[in-house]
Amino acid sequence: MSQKFDVVVIGAGPGGYVAAIRAAQLGLNTACVEKWVNDQNQTVLGGTCLNVGCIPSKALLDSTHKFHMAHSEFKAHGIHTGDVSMDVPAMIKRKDQIVKNLTGGIAGLFKANGVTLLEGTGKVLANKQVEVSKKDGGTEVVDAENVIIAAGSVPVNIPPAPLTEGLILDNEGALEITETPKRLGVIGAGVIGLEMGSVWARLGSEVTVLEAMEEFLPFCDKDLAKDAQKTLKKQGLDIRLGARVTGTEVKGQEVTVKYTDAKGEQEIVVDKLIVAVGRRPYTEGLLAGDCGVQLDERGFISVDGQCRTSVPGVYAIGDVVRGPMLAHKASEEGIMVADIIHGHKAQMNYDCIPGIIYTHPELAWVGKTEQELKAEGVKIKVGKFPFAASGRAMASHDTEGFVKIIADEETDRILGCHIVGGQAGELIAQAVIAMEFGSSTEDLQLTVFAHPTVSEAIHEAALACDNHAIHVANRKKR
Ligand code: FAD
Ligand code: AMP
Repeated sequence: MSQKFDVVVIGAGPGGYVAAIRAAQLGLNTACVEKWVNDQNQTVLGGTCLNVGCIPSKALLDSTHKFHMAHSEFKAHGIHTGDVSMDVPAMIKRKDQIVKNLTGGIAGLFKANGVTLLEGTGKVLANKQVEVSKKDGGTEVVDAENVIIAAGSVPVNIPPAPLTEGLILDNEGALEITETPKRLGVIGAGVIGLEMGSVWARLGSEVTVLEAMEEFLPFCDKDLAKDAQKTLKKQGLDIRLGARVTGTEVKGQEVTVKYTDAKGEQEIVVDKLIVAVGRRPYTEGLLAGDCGVQLDERGFISVDGQCRTSVPGVYAIGDVVRGPMLAHKASEEGIMVADIIHGHKAQMNYDCIPGIIYTHPELAWVGKTEQELKAEGVKIKVGKFPFAASGRAMASHDTEGFVKIIADEETDRILGCHIVGGQAGELIAQAVIAMEFGSSTEDLQLTVFAHPTVSEAIHEAALACDNHAIHVANRKKR
């Protein structure tokens, strides 16, 4: 007799493992199928985020930021360190240990919550059955009252830059570089490209980023994109816009990258090339022909606003469905779907998903940009406060950037917040909470912020929406 579960989750990334834990907490008999194995053929949980995404990239960003601080910023504090050097293999080892601890932690959480782990590759069959091709051979078919597909995404590869061991790398390979390349090429000035470019620029690589689009970070508020472009340039990232890569040639240990821009055909020679041109939903071998689950024209699993697929009782969440490819979006969808299965009328606020780019300064945002709101004809007021006017930011020698709050001119409701700053990624949560609670700028203006903190910049930006900022001159007199 086949095993039967209330919920079978396919994939143990931040979408799947969170869904499985929540479902089990709600008393549902839950299994999670995961196929990812390490080089010792042990199953590892956590998906892209923990193994080759959010966490390892942030570990490298943090190590290299600290290196940069010691190398270039400490002297401003009067600290003299002598020669500072980076042991790159030790940095990679630290990153690997963090990954190991965290992925092991998920296994512990599965045990603590009673989630059954099925080690192997899952395939959705008709009638809510899931076939598991087991890691150690053989197959098992399990029955499910509900299936949650959380199969995630994989890097996009482009024909002009086929991956080449040690030389042309995708985002996974980029996390395993053990020696600082003298010349590094990056294709794609998206989130991953800029984060990886920053890591190696801080260690001394000459970094060239080739981006096909003419506009830098087109999904960001223009004030953020402009500021970031200037700062990253100052940090040594040579970002070439309107540069479409058309081919690569590997000769010995060098890669010639050919691209076209407004001036015609160009080329650069690099020691390593990172391909960071985006990710695509991963559905290979996932859906039996007769299972009824439909894909959209871009290859994502089609779902409604509550992650229901075309088959009742089958849900899909995270990178494999529409919306931003972000770990926290995947996790919240996982919680929503587990709650729906348990019988709640759960829903999620897709208008309030923050985004962060972990360069230094960081970029963080939530809600709409000034340009989007203007295009929609919404009457807005904007308040900005620069960290250069923040006492705490000065004390920390971290004064780049600003907080920008946008609110509806008539109702005062906050519609967006956009931050460039050393701690933008942490600060944005305050705006997310405010927006989630439907706050006005007046709510923030009347809130007491501790002094001295960089958070005071949020308070001041809210005040600036009504030209009442205290620590900076307001734009116009009332
Ligand atoms: P995944 O994490 O991709 O997990 C899917 C899991 O399903 C995998 O473990 C896979 O092995 C498993 N699987 C797939 N098919 C099957 C099958 N048939 N059977 C069994 N198992 C299967 N997001 C952020 O929010 N913040 C960041 O800072 C951030 N940084 C990133 C940096 C990099 C370099 C990368 C690559 C990504 C980053 N992301 C970041 C994106 C984030 O990692 C993804 O949005 C997130 O992991 C998506 O979660 P998921 O659960 O949908 O899919
Ligand atoms: P993201 O999806 O945020 O990771 O960004 C990927 C970026 O890669 C996008 O801005 C694309 O425009 C860019 N891109 C895709 N293909 C190419 C190419 N052939 N040459 C240069 N840039 C590219």
